[in-house]
Amino acid sequence: MYRTLPEMDAALADCRACPRLVAWREQVARDKRAAFRDETYWGRPVPGFGPTDARLLLVGLAPAAHGGNRTGRMFTGDRSGDVLFAAMHAVGLATQPTATHLGDGLRLLDTRVTAPVHCAPPDNKPTPDERDRCRQWLVTELELLAPTLRAVVALGAWGWQALLPALTAAGWETPRLKFGHGVRYPIAAARAGRAPLELFGSYHVSQRNTFTGRLTPQMLESVLAQAISAARR
Ligand code: SF4
Repeated sequence: MYRTLPEMDAALADCRACPRLVAWREQVARDKRAAFRDETYWGRPVPGFGPTDARLLLVGLAPAAHGGNRTGRMFTGDRSGDVLFAAMHAVGLATQPTATHLGDGLRLLDTRVTAPVHCAPPDNKPTPDERDRCRQWLVTELELLAPTLRAVVALGAWGWQALLPALTAAGWETPRLKFGHGVRYPIAAARAGRAPLELFGSYHVSQRNTFTGRLTPQMLESVLAQAISAARR
């Protein structure tokens, strides 16, 4: 249906398929947080970010209300992104350790960052219906990345559960695979035109994990380093 990722991303940014999330993302964009009151919020679905020939894909949960929903770029402008991009920079996957706004010069190297739900949900909790409705976009993203994609990292158990059916629909075999931080599974191709993948799990970069030390920068960097090494093999 879409021949390129930019074509898909442009269509995605106009999606209004989930009434609750459309209302929420637009309300947040109107009301704003006091610290950002002079900014124009994006207030739309947030596409994936990174090169269209990435070998590694990172899959989170959904954009943050005052992060990606404000800046229009996945994981940009919030505390989770601060941790993620610092780790990506430390292992050579990002040109700088910070992500503040569109046009800040950040480029990702060999890596794309996306989410199974592309609109900011209230309380960071999409419903199962919203997750399932948004899956088509992740399936298409995986299909368009397939020529170069060799490894995927799921950030958090929620992203893991959302990712597996999308991988299946996009042409890979995903038997019951248990999430955990640091797990690694080979994923076989189930369709012509698919190369085998390596699937990795990491705790999510949420403040609940990073502020408590459940996920340290070293733990995240270790998973990312293993993943990019597998992707470039
Ligand atoms: S969550 Fe996904 S399917 Fe729902 S409106 Fe946003 S982009 Fe569309």
